Amino acid sequence: MLTPPDKERCQADVPGNGPFTLGGKIGNPKNGYRVRCENKPTVIVSERVPGPDGLRGSMSLCPGCHAELLQQLGPNYAPVTVALKEEEPAQPAIGIGAKLWRFDENRRRYTKPENPKDLWGKIIWREHWEPMFVVGETRVSWLVGYERQMGKREPHVSYKLPKAAFRNGECPRDWARSEEHLSELAWAREHCSKLSDAVLRCHDPRVLRAVWAALAERGLIK
Ligand SMILES: [Zn+2]
Repeated sequence: MLTPPDKERCQADVPGNGPFTLGGKIGNPKNGYRVRCENKPTVIVSERVPGPDGLRGSMSLCPGCHAELLQQLGPNYAPVTVALKEEEPAQPAIGIGAKLWRFDENRRRYTKPENPKDLWGKIIWREHWEPMFVVGETRVSWLVGYERQMGKREPHVSYKLPKAAFRNGECPRDWARSEEHLSELAWAREHCSKLSDAVLRCHDPRVLRAVWAALAERGLIK
């Protein structure tokens, strides 16, 4: 009988502290003193080929254990992996009249200068994002224009964006589809270089594996 995948807790067994460590968790000696991982899983992996019993085993794994599995089994072994859906905030539906934002490096707004002698203050990153509106559609594209084109019978179309790029709450690069989405992008921008510095300083393989697995899942590293 197969154990069903546990969506709350990673099902991998990780090395415990062995039989003679005082204080730590002690695993099962029949299992090489391994204990069950306590992390929250993000994927379920299933065997591609059924076992001799005709059943396909599957288990839930956290990012660290998933990376470990892929590393141990090698690149040619490809278990079927299903990402467990995170609770994502619902994105507003895209349709005619929907507001979008487009990133424009040349659109610059500044804070008031701290020193009155200065002409400019600091650049406001969020103001690089220009509000745009869906003013029409074709079968496969959203037609996007400036606000003044809204409701016109023949609006001037500045951008044609493939509808497919908006599936599953996604968005084309350099576009944002809600204030919340913009906030997320702002967060990423603020924390990205801090994170990469921290990764360079980090020597904990569990942490690095977790980062690796999260990037690998999105095809950003191999
Ligand atoms: Zn785990």
